[in-house]
Amino acid sequence: PELFQPERPNSMGFDLHHTPTLDKIDVARDAFRAHQWHAQPLLSEKAHPEDDKPILNPAQPLDRPGAVAPASARDVELALASACPWQSPAVERARILNKAADLYEAHFGELFALLAREAGKSVPDAVAELREAVDFLRYYAANIPDAEPAGTFTCISPWNFPLAIFTGQISAALATGNAVLAKPAPQTPLIAHRAVQLMHEAGVPRDALQLLPGGPSVGAALTSDPRVSGVAFTGSTATALKIRAAMAEHMRPGTPLIAETGGLNAMIVDSTALPEQAVQAIIESAFQSAGQRCSALRCLYVQEDIAKDLLTMLTGAMEALTVGDPWHLSTDCGPVIDEDARQGIADHIAQARAKGQVLKELNTPPEGTFIAPTLIEIPGIAALEREVFGPVLHVARFKASEIDQVIADINATGYGLTFGLHTRIDDRVQHITEAVHAGNIYVNRNQIGAIVGSQPFGGEGLSGTGPKAGGPNYMTRFCRPDRQNSAA
Ligand code: GLU
Repeated sequence: PELFQPERPNSMGFDLHHTPTLDKIDVARDAFRAHQWHAQPLLSEKAHPEDDKPILNPAQPLDRPGAVAPASARDVELALASACPWQSPAVERARILNKAADLYEAHFGELFALLAREAGKSVPDAVAELREAVDFLRYYAANIPDAEPAGTFTCISPWNFPLAIFTGQISAALATGNAVLAKPAPQTPLIAHRAVQLMHEAGVPRDALQLLPGGPSVGAALTSDPRVSGVAFTGSTATALKIRAAMAEHMRPGTPLIAETGGLNAMIVDSTALPEQAVQAIIESAFQSAGQRCSALRCLYVQEDIAKDLLTMLTGAMEALTVGDPWHLSTDCGPVIDEDARQGIADHIAQARAKGQVLKELNTPPEGTFIAPTLIEIPGIAALEREVFGPVLHVARFKASEIDQVIADINATGYGLTFGLHTRIDDRVQHITEAVHAGNIYVNRNQIGAIVGSQPFGGEGLSGTGPKAGGPNYMTRFCRPDRQNSAA
């Protein structure tokens, strides 16, 4: 029975069906409606106000939530030279990381405001993101392996989970006693800076955790220095390959790279699926977070016999989505992160439109970098040349006799992050889930939102190196392989 008594309960989050809770969120967030944040390296010889870059709110072109002073080459050098592994005993590190989790929860209003204004996150997305960040802190604090830290870890995180993935990487590295040099995505340094402040306030030593905001040059400096003993990276497959090459050239052989990269995720819905359940799962998987999750559904395969009815239901459900400013509580789908992202996705849709493949498009708000949820029909996943990182769902039809070819095509992409299946036939579940290569497979539900501790998250093939985040093997990669005591 003790198997069913988790020693570390996940965060409760917020019940968004409860009106007083929504009011509480609204009031707490509103105090930060016009707040200005600033991000800069922890150690910087001078402030560089002349180099400050404004941060844009993707939903509101006139709103500037703050500015960032990117790290200079000199700042990076100062950070590398001063980084010092966190030498407190594991129980003390765990206590401090748990305290950081409590501080994150106490500052939910400010963090939700940052998630909306800097990253375009709707309220449900922000609630899920804060929960995940807190869960990472508490999970890693509760599962510290008995091993020696690698030394100094570089953590490079993406803008799509600017709090959760940022926190997940650094908390695993810190829990195991490393020093951390954290480079957040250039689009979202403000929330990373605030998170680092809360970590320091909880008691993480300043020389064990330093923020180095900036772009590719900062990332390059932090992944090609022999003083760095490991790299955790979440972002594109192309960047991961560049990091691997730089590490091979400049670092000790065997320096760990823990990479979580892209996906071309599919879902199969067969003719026995429950249509209402499948449609809800499709809408969530494709359009939550405006499709900006690496786990998101990109290519839906529907069995021909039910395709007409299912697509009618699906386009109807798309019409019910509210696209707009994430500040509004009713928003389902917020903006994409910036104008470059918007343009790339819009080009993809324009090409599909020219080929007559667009089945459904919603209206886009007039201002801000929005892409409205879009449904595009394609012959199969092989027609997708790249991961389109936004609220664009592709659909292909298949005949029952073609199922093995569909599976082969899904595997042939070379990615292997998430996969969804809707069917009521047990043998089919068995056959398909064994045949598809993917790190996270979900049956008769959505395929996003892995829960720390119970659904470790990570891919295979082009989608990542493993080990999975939020799982039992993750932290050992942050430790010296020759100095692992009980946890091997
Ligand atoms: N862990 C997230 C999920 O399960 C996705 C993370 C990502 O987009 O990088 O949806």
